[in-house]
Amino acid sequence: MSRVGRNINVSFERLRHLGHRQDRPRRIASDAGTCPKCDSHYSADEMRRNMRVCPACGHHFAVTARERLEQLGEPGGYTELWPDLRAADPLQFTDLKPYVERIRDAESSTGMGEAIVCAELEIRHVPCVAAIMDFSFMGGSMGAVVGEKFARACEYAAQKGVPFVVLSSSGGARMQEGTLALMQMAKTVIALDALADARVPVIVILAHPTTGGVWASFASLGDVTYAEPGALIAFSGPRVIEETTREVLPSDFGRAERQLANGQVDAVVDRRELAARIGRVLAILAPPPGQAAQGGGSLQWAQDAAGGVGRAAQSFPEAARKAINKILPSSGDDTEGGK
Ligand SMILES: [Zn+2]
Repeated sequence: MSRVGRNINVSFERLRHLGHRQDRPRRIASDAGTCPKCDSHYSADEMRRNMRVCPACGHHFAVTARERLEQLGEPGGYTELWPDLRAADPLQFTDLKPYVERIRDAESSTGMGEAIVCAELEIRHVPCVAAIMDFSFMGGSMGAVVGEKFARACEYAAQKGVPFVVLSSSGGARMQEGTLALMQMAKTVIALDALADARVPVIVILAHPTTGGVWASFASLGDVTYAEPGALIAFSGPRVIEETTREVLPSDFGRAERQLANGQVDAVVDRRELAARIGRVLAILAPPPGQAAQGGGSLQWAQDAAGGVGRAAQSFPEAARKAINKILPSSGDDTEGGK
């Protein structure tokens, strides 16, 4: 039976009556796991070894922000930035329970202080600053602290002159912070604009799900944008649109593969190849110190980079051209700006 035509009921009383889902513990990235697509079962060790991707069918399980950092860089090889920032509750907001209580619960169940972890690390030996979202902390929602940490990370990357790598996984703006959360959309976009002025490349990886105010702000502004297979990338999820428009959407609506066909992302990349892929782009856009191809200093790097540009241009010609133009001051084409 289609959901289309059903009335929308957002009453808190109804949710309370139904035993609201948010009150149940959500296991986002368990250590062991059964694949929801093919029912294969994996031990904690197998899950870690396969980067939480099902070897049988390729289903991508959720990953915590800190595990992401280990997957992208070297194990234990990152320095977390501003881990002590915590959300305030200026609206003294309460839905089914007070916002401060929700934050406290999220903190104790995830071991994180917020829905984003910023860090300094090396990806394939290229120093960079990363901002990684974690869906297990209140649905990866963006409140004032997420916006603040993101903006600080942008400033830090600009100051250091190193690339900025963003991984999004978020339901959107945090409802409990109201307009303050929506303001983070503008704040993060302005922060990225400053990075463009500083000619710092930005790579965005869209993980499942990237929706709402996060997709409508910084997540859609990368110079190079990758998506994980099957990730939902949309402003509104298909259920909300179907209930509002009373129309049935295609089954692949908003999925990474559809967004690739629509030109919204540059490539859909398997998680197990992500670090190598990012490393290749970073080596072109921001060669490690001492390896810059200047004055014949490193012929090998120049040859590698030339090969890399060719390969990169084959897989995402438009993005590669824009990103490369942006870091070359004399290209004359840099005003079109990817931001
Ligand atoms: Zn599977």
